[in-house]
Amino acid sequence: MLKNNIVIAIDGPAGSGKSSIAKIIAKKFSFLYIDTGAMYRALTLKVINLKIDINDQKAIQNLVNSTTISYDKDENLLIDKKLVTDAIRQQKITDLVKKIASSQIIRTFLVDMQRIIGKQKNSIIDGRDIGTVVFPDADLKIFLTSSVEVRAQRRLLQNQENNINLNYNLNEIKTMISIRDQNDTNRKIGALKIAQDGILVDSSKLTFKETEEKIINLMKQKGVINEK
Ligand code: C5P
Repeated sequence: MLKNNIVIAIDGPAGSGKSSIAKIIAKKFSFLYIDTGAMYRALTLKVINLKIDINDQKAIQNLVNSTTISYDKDENLLIDKKLVTDAIRQQKITDLVKKIASSQIIRTFLVDMQRIIGKQKNSIIDGRDIGTVVFPDADLKIFLTSSVEVRAQRRLLQNQENNINLNYNLNEIKTMISIRDQNDTNRKIGALKIAQDGILVDSSKLTFKETEEKIINLMKQKGVINEK
Protein backbone atom coordinates (compact mmCIF):
# COMPACT_ATOMS: atom_id res chain seq x y z
CA MET A 1 0.00 0.00 0.00
CA LEU A 2 1.53 3.32 -1.05
CA LYS A 3 1.06 6.34 1.17
CA ASN A 4 -0.94 9.35 0.06
CA ASN A 5 0.44 12.77 -0.69
CA ILE A 6 3.88 11.74 -1.77
CA VAL A 7 6.32 14.56 -2.37
CA ILE A 8 9.40 14.09 -4.53
CA ALA A 9 11.84 16.99 -4.49
CA ILE A 10 14.20 17.48 -7.40
CA ASP A 11 16.71 20.26 -6.87
CA GLY A 12 19.64 21.19 -9.02
CA PRO A 13 21.38 23.92 -10.96
CA ALA A 14 20.18 25.63 -14.15
CA GLY A 15 20.12 23.37 -17.18
CA SER A 16 20.46 20.11 -15.26
CA GLY A 17 17.37 18.72 -16.97
CA LYS A 18 15.21 18.73 -13.83
CA SER A 19 12.11 20.04 -15.53
CA SER A 20 12.18 17.71 -18.54
CA ILE A 21 12.76 14.62 -16.41
CA ALA A 22 10.31 15.62 -13.67
CA LYS A 23 7.62 16.35 -16.24
CA ILE A 24 7.97 12.94 -17.91
CA ILE A 25 8.07 11.01 -14.63
CA ALA A 26 5.07 12.95 -13.31
CA LYS A 27 3.07 12.02 -16.39
CA LYS A 28 4.10 8.38 -16.20
CA PHE A 29 3.01 7.97 -12.59
CA SER A 30 0.16 10.53 -12.53
CA PHE A 31 1.91 12.90 -10.14
CA LEU A 32 1.35 16.64 -10.29
CA TYR A 33 4.44 18.35 -11.70
CA ILE A 34 5.29 21.65 -10.03
CA ASP A 35 7.96 23.82 -11.65
CA THR A 36 8.86 26.31 -8.93
CA GLY A 37 11.33 28.14 -11.19
CA ALA A 38 8.34 29.01 -13.38
CA MET A 39 6.71 30.71 -10.37
CA TYR A 40 9.77 32.91 -9.76
CA ARG A 41 9.82 33.66 -13.46
CA ALA A 42 6.09 34.51 -13.51
CA LEU A 43 6.54 37.02 -10.70
CA THR A 44 9.51 38.50 -12.55
CA LEU A 45 7.28 38.96 -15.59
CA LYS A 46 4.71 40.72 -13.44
CA VAL A 47 7.38 43.02 -11.93
CA ILE A 48 8.51 43.97 -15.44
CA ASN A 49 5.00 44.47 -16.82
CA LEU A 50 3.90 46.60 -13.86
CA LYS A 51 7.25 48.45 -13.78
CA ILE A 52 7.66 47.71 -10.08
CA ASP A 53 10.82 48.79 -8.30
CA ILE A 54 12.23 45.57 -6.85
CA ASN A 55 13.82 47.51 -3.97
CA ASP A 56 10.48 49.00 -2.92
CA GLN A 57 9.37 46.54 -0.18
CA LYS A 58 5.87 47.97 0.04
CA ALA A 59 5.35 47.58 -3.68
CA ILE A 60 6.66 44.00 -3.52
CA GLN A 61 4.29 43.21 -0.64
CA ASN A 62 1.39 44.66 -2.63
CA LEU A 63 2.49 42.63 -5.60
CA VAL A 64 2.35 39.32 -3.74
CA ASN A 65 -0.91 40.27 -2.01
CA SER A 66 -2.52 40.79 -5.41
CA THR A 67 -1.09 37.68 -7.05
CA THR A 68 -2.88 34.39 -7.61
CA ILE A 69 -1.12 31.28 -8.78
CA SER A 70 -3.11 28.40 -10.23
CA TYR A 71 -3.08 25.77 -12.96
CA ASP A 72 -5.31 25.19 -15.95
CA LYS A 73 -6.79 21.77 -16.74
CA ASP A 74 -3.60 20.79 -18.59
CA GLU A 75 -1.55 21.71 -15.50
CA ASN A 76 -0.05 24.83 -17.11
CA LEU A 77 0.90 27.54 -14.63
CA LEU A 78 -1.42 30.56 -14.53
CA ILE A 79 -0.55 33.81 -12.84
CA ASP A 80 -3.58 35.96 -12.12
CA LYS A 81 -5.47 33.43 -14.28
CA LYS A 82 -3.22 34.17 -17.29
CA LEU A 83 -1.14 31.63 -19.19
CA VAL A 84 2.53 32.67 -19.21
CA THR A 85 4.28 29.56 -20.57
CA ASP A 86 6.21 31.28 -23.36
CA ALA A 87 6.58 34.76 -21.90
CA ILE A 88 8.52 33.54 -18.85
CA ARG A 89 11.23 31.87 -20.98
CA GLN A 90 12.47 35.15 -22.46
CA GLN A 91 16.09 36.07 -21.74
CA LYS A 92 15.05 39.33 -20.01
CA ILE A 93 13.21 37.22 -17.43
CA THR A 94 16.23 34.92 -16.92
CA ASP A 95 18.39 38.03 -16.43
CA LEU A 96 16.17 39.59 -13.76
CA VAL A 97 14.86 36.52 -11.93
CA LYS A 98 17.83 36.34 -9.55
CA LYS A 99 16.73 39.62 -7.95
CA ILE A 100 13.20 38.34 -7.52
CA ALA A 101 14.49 35.04 -6.12
CA SER A 102 16.52 36.94 -3.50
CA SER A 103 13.53 38.79 -2.12
CA GLN A 104 12.43 37.46 1.28
CA ILE A 105 8.85 38.65 0.71
CA ILE A 106 8.60 36.83 -2.59
CA ARG A 107 10.25 33.65 -1.29
CA THR A 108 7.93 33.50 1.73
CA PHE A 109 4.91 33.90 -0.54
CA LEU A 110 6.04 31.31 -3.07
CA VAL A 111 7.25 28.76 -0.52
CA ASP A 112 3.81 28.91 1.19
CA MET A 113 2.13 28.53 -2.18
CA GLN A 114 4.33 25.58 -3.14
CA ARG A 115 3.52 23.82 0.14
CA ILE A 116 -0.22 24.31 -0.36
CA ILE A 117 -0.15 23.04 -3.96
CA GLY A 118 2.29 20.20 -3.23
CA LYS A 119 0.13 18.83 -0.44
CA GLN A 120 -2.96 18.55 -2.62
CA LYS A 121 -1.86 15.41 -4.45
CA ASN A 122 1.20 13.29 -5.16
CA SER A 123 3.72 15.75 -6.55
CA ILE A 124 7.11 16.03 -8.13
CA ILE A 125 8.47 19.48 -7.41
CA ASP A 126 11.57 20.92 -9.00
CA GLY A 127 13.59 23.91 -7.91
CA ARG A 128 16.61 24.91 -5.85
CA ASP A 129 15.40 24.72 -2.24
CA ILE A 130 12.66 22.10 -2.35
CA GLY A 131 14.40 19.40 -0.33
CA THR A 132 16.01 21.88 2.07
CA VAL A 133 13.33 24.53 2.71
CA VAL A 134 9.99 23.89 1.04
CA PHE A 135 9.58 20.18 1.82
CA PRO A 136 12.31 19.11 4.25
CA ASP A 137 10.16 16.00 4.91
CA ALA A 138 9.88 15.03 1.24
CA ASP A 139 9.65 11.29 0.61
CA LEU A 140 12.54 11.40 -1.85
CA LYS A 141 15.06 14.18 -2.40
CA ILE A 142 17.14 14.18 -5.54
CA PHE A 143 19.89 16.61 -6.38
CA LEU A 144 20.23 16.43 -10.14
CA THR A 145 23.34 17.95 -11.63
CA SER A 146 25.87 17.67 -14.44
CA SER A 147 28.96 19.55 -15.57
CA VAL A 148 28.62 23.13 -16.84
CA GLU A 149 29.82 21.99 -20.29
CA VAL A 150 27.13 19.34 -20.58
CA ARG A 151 24.42 21.66 -19.30
CA ALA A 152 25.40 24.40 -21.76
CA GLN A 153 25.40 21.96 -24.64
CA ARG A 154 21.94 20.68 -23.70
CA ARG A 155 20.58 24.22 -23.28
CA LEU A 156 21.90 25.19 -26.72
CA LEU A 157 20.08 22.23 -28.29
CA GLN A 158 16.95 23.02 -26.31
CA ASN A 159 17.02 26.65 -27.53
CA GLN A 160 17.39 25.45 -31.11
CA GLU A 161 14.56 22.97 -30.77
CA ASN A 162 12.27 25.57 -29.23
CA ASN A 163 13.46 28.35 -31.53
CA ILE A 164 14.27 30.67 -28.61
CA ASN A 165 17.35 32.67 -27.57
CA LEU A 166 19.08 31.73 -30.82
CA ASN A 167 21.56 34.62 -30.62
CA TYR A 168 23.65 32.94 -27.86
CA ASN A 169 26.49 30.58 -28.73
CA LEU A 170 27.80 27.71 -26.62
CA ASN A 171 30.44 29.77 -24.82
CA GLU A 172 28.00 32.52 -23.96
CA ILE A 173 25.51 30.00 -22.63
CA LYS A 174 28.28 28.38 -20.56
CA THR A 175 29.19 31.74 -19.03
CA MET A 176 25.54 32.53 -18.27
CA ILE A 177 25.02 29.14 -16.63
CA SER A 178 28.16 29.59 -14.46
CA ILE A 179 26.92 32.99 -13.32
CA ARG A 180 23.50 31.55 -12.48
CA ASP A 181 25.18 28.74 -10.51
CA GLN A 182 27.06 31.32 -8.45
CA ASN A 183 23.94 33.39 -7.83
CA ASP A 184 21.89 30.34 -6.85
CA THR A 185 24.58 28.89 -4.58
CA ASN A 186 25.55 32.10 -2.82
CA ARG A 187 22.07 33.52 -2.24
CA LYS A 188 21.42 34.26 1.46
CA ILE A 189 18.00 32.63 1.43
CA GLY A 190 16.79 29.55 -0.40
CA ALA A 191 20.28 28.83 -1.71
CA LEU A 192 20.94 25.88 -3.96
CA LYS A 193 22.42 23.03 -1.97
CA ILE A 194 21.97 19.34 -1.55
CA ALA A 195 19.80 18.34 1.40
CA GLN A 196 21.48 16.33 4.14
CA ASP A 197 19.48 13.28 3.09
CA GLY A 198 19.44 14.20 -0.60
CA ILE A 199 20.65 11.76 -3.24
CA LEU A 200 23.10 13.11 -5.78
CA VAL A 201 22.43 12.14 -9.39
CA ASP A 202 25.15 13.33 -11.78
CA SER A 203 23.83 13.01 -15.32
CA SER A 204 26.99 14.25 -17.09
CA LYS A 205 27.65 10.82 -18.53
CA LEU A 206 24.07 9.59 -18.66
CA THR A 207 21.56 9.83 -21.47
CA PHE A 208 18.16 11.33 -20.75
CA LYS A 209 16.63 7.84 -20.65
CA GLU A 210 19.31 6.56 -18.25
CA THR A 211 18.76 9.50 -15.93
CA GLU A 212 15.02 8.92 -16.02
CA GLU A 213 15.52 5.23 -15.21
CA LYS A 214 17.88 6.04 -12.36
CA ILE A 215 15.31 8.33 -10.78
CA ILE A 216 12.50 5.81 -11.28
CA ASN A 217 14.67 3.19 -9.56
CA LEU A 218 15.23 5.53 -6.63
CA MET A 219 11.47 6.03 -6.42
CA LYS A 220 10.99 2.27 -6.30
CA GLN A 221 13.68 1.86 -3.64
CA LYS A 222 11.97 4.50 -1.52
CA GLY A 223 8.63 2.77 -2.01
CA VAL A 224 6.92 5.85 -3.48
CA ILE A 225 5.86 3.88 -6.55
CA ASN A 226 5.14 0.19 -6.94
CA GLU A 227 7.84 -2.19 -8.20
CA LYS A 228 6.76 -3.37 -11.64
O1 C5P B 1 14.43 26.57 -12.79
P1 C5P B 1 14.54 27.90 -13.48
O2 C5P B 1 15.87 28.10 -14.11
O3 C5P B 1 13.42 28.17 -14.42
O4 C5P B 1 14.41 28.94 -12.30
C1 C5P B 1 14.46 30.34 -12.55
C2 C5P B 1 15.15 31.01 -11.38
O5 C5P B 1 14.35 30.96 -10.23
C3 C5P B 1 16.49 30.39 -11.00
O6 C5P B 1 17.55 31.11 -11.57
C4 C5P B 1 16.54 30.43 -9.51
O7 C5P B 1 17.38 31.43 -9.07
C5 C5P B 1 15.13 30.76 -9.08
N1 C5P B 1 14.56 29.69 -8.29
C6 C5P B 1 14.69 29.74 -6.93
N2 C5P B 1 14.11 28.78 -6.15
C7 C5P B 1 13.43 27.78 -6.70
C8 C5P B 1 13.30 27.69 -8.11
C9 C5P B 1 13.90 28.66 -8.89
O8 C5P B 1 15.31 30.64 -6.40
N3 C5P B 1 12.85 26.87 -5.91
